[in-house]
Amino acid sequence: RAKDGGRRAFHFFEPGMDARVRARRLLEIDLRRAMAAGEFELYYQPLVSLKSGAITGFEALLRWHHPSRGLVPPAEFIPLSEEIGLIVPLGEWVLRQACAEAARWPANLKVAVNLSSVQFKTGNVTHAVLSALANSGLPASRLELEITESILLAESEANLATLYRLRGLGVSVSMDDFGTGYSSLSYLRAFPFDKIKIDRSFVSELSDGGDCMAIVRAVAGLGSSLGIATTAEGVETGEQLAWLRNEGCTEMQGYYFSPPVPASKIAPMLKANEGARSSCEGLVRH
Ligand code: C2E
Ligand code: MG
Ligand code: MG
Ligand code: MG
Repeated sequence: RAKDGGRRAFHFFEPGMDARVRARRLLEIDLRRAMAAGEFELYYQPLVSLKSGAITGFEALLRWHHPSRGLVPPAEFIPLSEEIGLIVPLGEWVLRQACAEAARWPANLKVAVNLSSVQFKTGNVTHAVLSALANSGLPASRLELEITESILLAESEANLATLYRLRGLGVSVSMDDFGTGYSSLSYLRAFPFDKIKIDRSFVSELSDGGDCMAIVRAVAGLGSSLGIATTAEGVETGEQLAWLRNEGCTEMQGYYFSPPVPASKIAPMLKANEGARSSCEGLVRH
């Protein structure tokens, strides 16, 4: 098998690799072009208090309006943007845009922005945050930065120092995708996070009973005893919502309430949310 398998693998593998490298190279060129052409847009997904049913803020989520491919989700271009360093200028644009947009919202609403570990490593993320706040006039207290544990995994000393500097500016810091990494718990000890975002993979399996229920319950309890807010990601059903609220989760985000929407949909959504709350309907879907 090994002998002619090797030859077959050679013929089979070589053109495939070539095609992959070519596709990557094309995507790279396309991404740089898109950046210059202004094809990126931020969508916003509401974060909702499980106590009051009020919208407390929005997470900014990057979208690429490709001229021929249509709306491209971040999973298809962020990894390559990180590899080629494009995430640094792109991430600065996200910060500027999100802060500028949020400065026009009612003053009780926050905006959450995702940061890549590459922005910590090769970009001046503190400067990017400071200038986005200064240019928009958004108070630092209304900006939440979402990071994953990959930021503390590599270059942990330098990145920790940066995180403390950022927090010193008055912004809050959330641990995103909690539970998917290797040592989420030890990072909770290393840095005083303001919020834990429980990964969607745990929330989506709540209805199967078993492990996910025990894990989410434990994280909600951990958050409440540490005084850290807990946000459940990817809430899709009323049952999940009721269960999470009962377990003391403080906030939710998910399709059940609303998918990410363009900025123009925010004002009508806030109005509907206000109306629903004053008429005691509680959480209303969009
Ligand atoms: P994330 O930060 O964990 O964002 C939450 C993701 O879950 C979003 O996917 C959102 O659309 C999706 N989601 C929310 N509720 C539900 C639900 O009920 N069901 C399902 N199936 N999905 C739900 P999206 O927008 O595709 O973003 C994926 C990831 O891309 C984000 O995960 C984040 O890691 C990254 N990303 C997005 N925007 C940026 C950005 O501006 N900068 C950086 N560095 N990363 C970003
Ligand atoms: Mg996030
Ligand atoms: Mg997340
Ligand atoms: Mg996630």
